Amino acid sequence: ALTEKLSGVFDRLGGRGVLSEKDVDEALREVRVALLDADVALPVARDFIAKAKERAAGEAVVRSVRPADQVVKIVYDGLIETLGGEEPVPLNLAAAPPAVILMAGLQGSGKTTTAAKLALRISKTERKKVMMASLDTRRPAAMEQLALLGQQAEVDTLPIVAGQSAPDIARRAMSAAKLAGYDVLILDTAGRTTLDEAMMAEAAEIARISQPTETLLVADSLTGQDAVRTAKAFHERLPLTGLILTRADGDGRGGAALSMRAVTGLPIKFLGAGEKIDALDVFDARRVAGRILGQGDIVALVEKASAELDQAKAERMAKKLAKGQFDLDDLSDQLAQMQKMGGMQGLMGLLPGVQKIKKQIAEANIDDKIFRRQQAIISSMTKVERKKPDLLNASRKRRVAAGAGVDVAEINRLLKQHRQMADMFKAMSKGGGKGFARMAQM
Ligand code: GDP
Ligand code: MG
Repeated sequence: ALTEKLSGVFDRLGGRGVLSEKDVDEALREVRVALLDADVALPVARDFIAKAKERAAGEAVVRSVRPADQVVKIVYDGLIETLGGEEPVPLNLAAAPPAVILMAGLQGSGKTTTAAKLALRISKTERKKVMMASLDTRRPAAMEQLALLGQQAEVDTLPIVAGQSAPDIARRAMSAAKLAGYDVLILDTAGRTTLDEAMMAEAAEIARISQPTETLLVADSLTGQDAVRTAKAFHERLPLTGLILTRADGDGRGGAALSMRAVTGLPIKFLGAGEKIDALDVFDARRVAGRILGQGDIVALVEKASAELDQAKAERMAKKLAKGQFDLDDLSDQLAQMQKMGGMQGLMGLLPGVQKIKKQIAEANIDDKIFRRQQAIISSMTKVERKKPDLLNASRKRRVAAGAGVDVAEINRLLKQHRQMADMFKAMSKGGGKGFARMAQM
């Protein structure tokens, strides 16, 4: 239904040639309904739409791309960003052994199963010595369940001793793991069926005792809106480091992932994709964004639009460079592109045989981290200043500096860097301009 709705909107948008505010509003109104259908929490959907609108307003219309495709691309990019970006966040196991992973969550969310899945993954793919311990003193068979799963995963579990409290088991597990030289200790905790203070207090105490490098909230993606409330409540009481959503195999909508990530700001590290012990997928924002938008056509459309947008931009840039033009707007575009592709190092790595230029750029002190600030500086300039940087005298620089919240010295550095790049492009254009198409495609 989601796919149909979006396609419907985009069909209506298609062929008009311009991306007006009205078009964007109309499309986004439908997207909002679609997000809610995908079980995205209302405030999250609202916020998402506002951001997408902001983005769309700043986007220049690209002639060779249908406006419809452009809106799809904006929505898709926004989803990826809200989901935490394209790069998965790896588990942090950096600690004097044992590095502790604490599993938290409501009863039935999949903590015990997921503990074993993680144990299997870490012991097999990272070749670490892993131990698991069940601190679930509430459910009669909970400890046996973990022991059994441990056998399946060929991972050791802490021997069961009857009558100990959860904090006591945590202490015992810590010293046993230390003594026997385990790299990683996974602590499985008890959950209740509803949020309750005793459960939270116990989890918090276990966290104090074991000082985990990862405290992972396991939540059932099928519980939708409830999952968000759960995440919020746990996040307030425990120093959570990440989320794992289970039963993604039964959730075709992906809305819980978007909501939980947006509400907690925590990275989603894995998705549980079945009852089997190896059914654990590294979280992939692209896949989930595709799921939220609906499978098939839309995602293919996004990829096509994305390629065409980049191509159109690259061609415009190549033309300008060939004429020896490179103004501050172009620099801003390039900075945005570089951010997208992993910074200056990534860019330079793709350029063949230009050691000298690489060195120049390194000397120009282009730091990946300051891209955003540089873009802020450029956006504080007037249109004319961006076209003609020479206009920037002392008083204009002061105004721009104040607008961007930086020192005048930083403006000067940016201008110097721009001059160096412009000179470099000019030199390249004299050399036949061969490098341009390539360079501009970055
Ligand atoms: P806990 O109470 O949080 O420890 O939850 P359990 O690990 O005992 O899991 C409860 C049930 O959910 C079990 O039957 C699991 O097999 C099942 N389960 C856990 N994760 C997944 C998943 O990713 N997909 C599916 N389909 N079932 C899961
Ligand atoms: Mg359990």
